[in-house]
Amino acid sequence: MKRLGIAVLAVAAVAAGAWVLGGDKLQFAMGGALINVGYRLQDPVANFDFVHEHMEPKLIWEEFLQQNHMAAEVRQKWPRTSRHPVIALVTCMDGRLDTNEIAGDTRRYYYVLRLAGSVLSEKEEEMLELAVNNGVEVVVFTTHTDCAAEKAAKNPAQRALYPNLVKAVDEREHRFQEFLERPTIRAKTGEGHLLVKWMDLDTSTERVAPHEQGAAGR
Ligand SMILES: [Zn+2]
Repeated sequence: MKRLGIAVLAVAAVAAGAWVLGGDKLQFAMGGALINVGYRLQDPVANFDFVHEHMEPKLIWEEFLQQNHMAAEVRQKWPRTSRHPVIALVTCMDGRLDTNEIAGDTRRYYYVLRLAGSVLSEKEEEMLELAVNNGVEVVVFTTHTDCAAEKAAKNPAQRALYPNLVKAVDEREHRFQEFLERPTIRAKTGEGHLLVKWMDLDTSTERVAPHEQGAAGR
């Protein structure tokens, strides 16, 4: 309860600050601070359903449905604004990566592709190109440290178990180049209307840095 009281006070103080001082940038930063207050409140709650330490599928499913219905009701009451995405973000499906956190932004300016090992296939290349034709001006392609798909590709036993995943990871660089060489993408990057970046994500902090060969997968 004490923790909740502090959080409520922090929310009130931050909201009052934003109200008094005004300005879009400040309002945005205050929103980020409040979201982090929410993270700090939820993060320590370890049990998925707040009760059981060991869950089973049926309980997890029921809890998921309940959470979804509550979230949907909140969304119905306070709808969010739809925006035209200007960035397409490609990340692995690793549960530690949160694209809102990576972007530092919860507004809907982002298309997000979550792919095992961040490997594009033809349909994703086409989807990205469609996104570019619909107004995306920056594509951020990311790989990340401690990637399970990359680890599988380096492990002989897992290579045998997951041959298609491994094949995809082996093809990742080629697929990225294939995307860059698509005529529309090449024309737009050449004219300066599109930026495509390959970045490495530090999985623990979600900070991006320019891709170095062999840097991801540490
Ligand atoms: Zn991964």
